[in-house]
Amino acid sequence: MDSELRSQAARYAQLLRRSGKKDAWLPAGLTRRLPAAADRAAVAQPLRARAETISTPAASAVPAPKPNLNLNLNLNLNDGSKAERLAALKKQTSGCTLCPHLAKSRTQVVFGVGNPEAKLMFVGEAPGADEDEKGEPFVGRAGQLLTKMIVAMELTREQVYIANVLKCRPDTPPNTSGNRKPTRNEMDACLPYLRAQVAVIAPQVIVALGATAVEGLFGPQKMNMTRLRGNWRELDGVPVRLTFHPSYLLHNQDIALKRLVWEDLLAVMERLAMPISEKQRGFFLKS
Ligand code: URA
Repeated sequence: MDSELRSQAARYAQLLRRSGKKDAWLPAGLTRRLPAAADRAAVAQPLRARAETISTPAASAVPAPKPNLNLNLNLNLNDGSKAERLAALKKQTSGCTLCPHLAKSRTQVVFGVGNPEAKLMFVGEAPGADEDEKGEPFVGRAGQLLTKMIVAMELTREQVYIANVLKCRPDTPPNTSGNRKPTRNEMDACLPYLRAQVAVIAPQVIVALGATAVEGLFGPQKMNMTRLRGNWRELDGVPVRLTFHPSYLLHNQDIALKRLVWEDLLAVMERLAMPISEKQRGFFLKS
């Protein structure tokens, strides 16, 4: 572990020894208190060693197409209200066949949900089975956790905008379960739609959720998420905060990781000049 990570871990080990707070982000009905020894052991594990596992990659039956980076949306995104422009973009996106294998396998395009006037936008990787069925991003288990995170910021899903880099569920071989990570080509093909969404909504801040979203937005990264999170990037002039994917938190029920994500969200709230209570500042620190 390098010195930066060691001091980060030591800081949290110290904070966690004093903590005993009920974990507000655990799935409903599950709460726990972490005993100090368990906390120390959890935090002492090198954070970097816990590679982020977002979805279970399974080879696509059909090779992904070469990306069309000159996607001509053929839309006037300047006239009308944001809601109207977003609706026009959604209509165009819903018939997309740039990835013929996904156009064939999807139930529907999962465009995005929320407030067209949102100041804050969350971007994930791709719809899973639940999202493919409902036509709305982040409605499965990871989505429920994202909703809790949004509520902890004293916002609602209706106030923010939620979308994915890839708008179709990545196909998986027949008779397999789980979700597959989108390919580079799939994400490249789909990115113009997300950029058009960002251009219309013009949020003040974007939160990129997890390694795949970061890769989809900014290309392959040399560093892993433990190093990337906590940093700001920029997409078409909009500041983007990088943080862990909610499904990573579901797989790693470690209060220190939740605190790291919460610190990212506090930084976002500060950037948006949102009021932050003392209680909010102390989430995942102490009881
Ligand atoms: N659901 C989504 O819509 N996106 C993700 O990245 C994960 C789950």
